Amino acid sequence: MSEITNETVASIEATLASVERALERLRAGTYRQCQVCAGPIDESDLVANPLLSNCPEHPELG
Ligand SMILES: [Zn+2]
Repeated sequence: MSEITNETVASIEATLASVERALERLRAGTYRQCQVCAGPIDESDLVANPLLSNCPEHPELG
C-alpha cells in the first residue's frame, strides 16, 4: 500500500526543476555542454538521459 508523501512531491518537483534546466540549456545553446567544464557531453549519453547536464568527469551532485 503506497501513498503520496512529501517525498513524492519533492521528487516530482526535483524532476520538474531538472526538465526546466534542460529546456533553458536547449534555448541557450548549451545543452550539449558540461555545466562544470563546458566540455561536450556525448550525444549517446544525452539520448540515454535527456536531463544529463554534466560530462562523465563531473557527475551531478544531486
Ligand atoms: Zn565536465
